[in-house]
Amino acid sequence: MGSEMCIRDRAIALGFGAEVYRAGSDDDSAEGEGSEWGVIEDEDMPEDLIRRSPVVTVMGHVDHGKTSLLDALRKTDVASGEAGGITQAIGASQVKAPDGTLVTFIDTPGHAAFSEMRSRGANVTDVVILVVAGDDGVKEQTVSSIKAAKSAGVPIVVAINKMDKPDIDPSRVKTQLLEYEVVLEEFGGEVLSAEVSALTGAGLDKLMEQVMLQSEILDLKANPNRAAQGVVVEARQQLGQGAVATALVQKGTLRVGDVVVAGSQWGRVRRLQDSCGVSVDEAGPSVAVEVVGLNGLPAAGDSFTVTPDESKARQIAEVRQQLQRDARASRLFASRSSADRDAFLSGPSDELPIKVIDLVVKSDVQGSAEALCSSLEELEVADDLLRVKTRVLRSGAGAITSEDVMLASVSNALVLGFNSVAARPTRDAAEQANVQIKEYTIVYDLLDDVKALMSTYIRPPPNKALGKLIGTADVLQTFKIGAVGKVAGCKVIDGVVRAGSNIRILRGNKVVYEGKLDALRYIKDEVEEIEAGSECGMAFDGFQEMEPDDRVEAYNPDASAN
Ligand code: GDP
Repeated sequence: MGSEMCIRDRAIALGFGAEVYRAGSDDDSAEGEGSEWGVIEDEDMPEDLIRRSPVVTVMGHVDHGKTSLLDALRKTDVASGEAGGITQAIGASQVKAPDGTLVTFIDTPGHAAFSEMRSRGANVTDVVILVVAGDDGVKEQTVSSIKAAKSAGVPIVVAINKMDKPDIDPSRVKTQLLEYEVVLEEFGGEVLSAEVSALTGAGLDKLMEQVMLQSEILDLKANPNRAAQGVVVEARQQLGQGAVATALVQKGTLRVGDVVVAGSQWGRVRRLQDSCGVSVDEAGPSVAVEVVGLNGLPAAGDSFTVTPDESKARQIAEVRQQLQRDARASRLFASRSSADRDAFLSGPSDELPIKVIDLVVKSDVQGSAEALCSSLEELEVADDLLRVKTRVLRSGAGAITSEDVMLASVSNALVLGFNSVAARPTRDAAEQANVQIKEYTIVYDLLDDVKALMSTYIRPPPNKALGKLIGTADVLQTFKIGAVGKVAGCKVIDGVVRAGSNIRILRGNKVVYEGKLDALRYIKDEVEEIEAGSECGMAFDGFQEMEPDDRVEAYNPDASAN
């Protein structure tokens, strides 16, 4: 109970940005949208904001030339030329546009990384360059890239590539794009484009110009004079250096010596290295740098923040680690294969393991939220192996917000709204993050649904009509034996299985068979009894459809269940 309460309280503290883990100002305002748990963000004053470089991601179908285009763009950059050719030292690079301004490219092309980051609430990209090969046209991943960019609200600049190839008709691509509501300027739309060849370099200047034009429209600004904040683009372990993370600074300036929290890791910045592999003392907004000094590997998409001191950084990291462990544990249990169960069951054995279903509860008024939480936390179902309970990580009055979704996402929780709904953007965020939101207007419906969900984790109680439960076994494999038919190779998990037992077979938590044991064999011999720990073969009367991982319950028909 102690540690459970502790996590819960901490989660609530985190969710509401309570002072415990507040870093930065003494401001009492609630935590802002998109800010990190445990870190209250200071609002930047408009007069502190100055122009920053655009951050660009290249997306598109496989083989349409994303990598070639990135390489070609890097080659046009004088700076990287001076530094001795293309140094792809880190997962991001900076390229000078024809007008001299810098553009930061995130080198993780493909929308997997992109959507991963999105789902974790990290929006790293200002502009997406959508590469479409002129000879191939719009393909599946072109479409999913368009969808990803659109749902993230990031403008697209289209690069029609491979224009050096003979008989390329760019207007075909342009018309195809119309179907996906990517309307280029020449069709009266707002999407900028360039016809390019990554191979010959033709059109690259135009492409960069279009990117700059698009960025001007976005009017990108940041305050460089504050503690740095940003996103981890990638991270790896490097021999002799420890964890090395590529970080994109989004606000403020990151300096050597700063203490940072990145996801659930923290550390003091020992070294910063720019995209050409050169050591630097600091990195401002829109600059990607390699950071050495973290005590462990953060994940791509984790946000990082500079904190005032080490103890705060450590505190925040520890809480996040705890939340992660908790989320992992519930995911592990949710799959409930026998191996997972065994892993869990090998823990302290005197008490049944507990599966906790985490909830975020929102209601129209505070009073009903509280009443609902106490009803929810009283719910419990159990079988012989597992107790299932709920835990409310956060509750309150008002609409379901994206912060609720983020907390649910990190803790693998379900969001429940009682007379409380989520606005469209929150729904979209939830879908991206794979978070389930359920809305109710009747308390009993809500409680019944949660109970039904809890029951999916437990096995149905023993069937007294079959007699007394004397043992259980897992089906390891099945095979066919001439005269007998299908036989299950089983391992008896506990108790005993006897010849003549009544049998119930469960698949997951569903009963798939009730009947009688037809044959019980140890190696080749018919036997009377098999004890826990031993393997055996079983055949069932009138049932051949057993599968590996099914659970066999043996009942003694001659003994009453009580
Ligand atoms: P990605 O999978 O989108 O990163 O595509 P790549 O950059 O790996 O390119 C796929 C293939 O297309 C490679 O064989 C490239 O050499 C070729 N390619 C890329 N850009 C061009 C181009 O502009 N013209 C021609 N002719 N081939 C290209």
